[in-house]
Amino acid sequence: MGVASFCDHAIGQSEKCQGAGDGVPGIMMRIVQKEFRVSTRRRTEMVDITGQVEAMVRETGVRNGDVTVYCPHTTAAITINENADPSVCHDVLLALDEAVPRSRPGYRHSEGNSDAHCKSSLVGCSEQVLIHDGRLTLGIWQGIYFCEFDGSRSRRVIVQVRGE
Ligand code: ZN
Repeated sequence: MGVASFCDHAIGQSEKCQGAGDGVPGIMMRIVQKEFRVSTRRRTEMVDITGQVEAMVRETGVRNGDVTVYCPHTTAAITINENADPSVCHDVLLALDEAVPRSRPGYRHSEGNSDAHCKSSLVGCSEQVLIHDGRLTLGIWQGIYFCEFDGSRSRRVIVQVRGE
């Protein structure tokens, strides 16, 4: 299993404030961007990053709004799925392997990782979760996963929190 850890050289916190509307003192919409790193250990794996995202949301102090979790890589992805039974992640990766074989006649990309690029596009590079009363509105069995399709590597995850 890969390990998600906070980045030593996080880009820090950029914060923009804008008024919520005319004559509503004290209510400010905030946009805060943070970043952490995930070290993956296998060529393909799903790393649960729910705790890291929750911690970053907590740090911002935003009580109501949303968080976007974004992966700036072309051979990885972000998804939300079951975090109770680890077999689910195994089966998702197995099904993706079957749908997108590692090698097949016709691939042109010279790096030899066309399967990883295809899986990245299929799964998608971001997820958005609503924040209510300071908590992520995930379902009881849902977790946020970083999906590695061409590891092992050190990867970046960017988190943007918006709200008040
Ligand atoms: Zn490539």
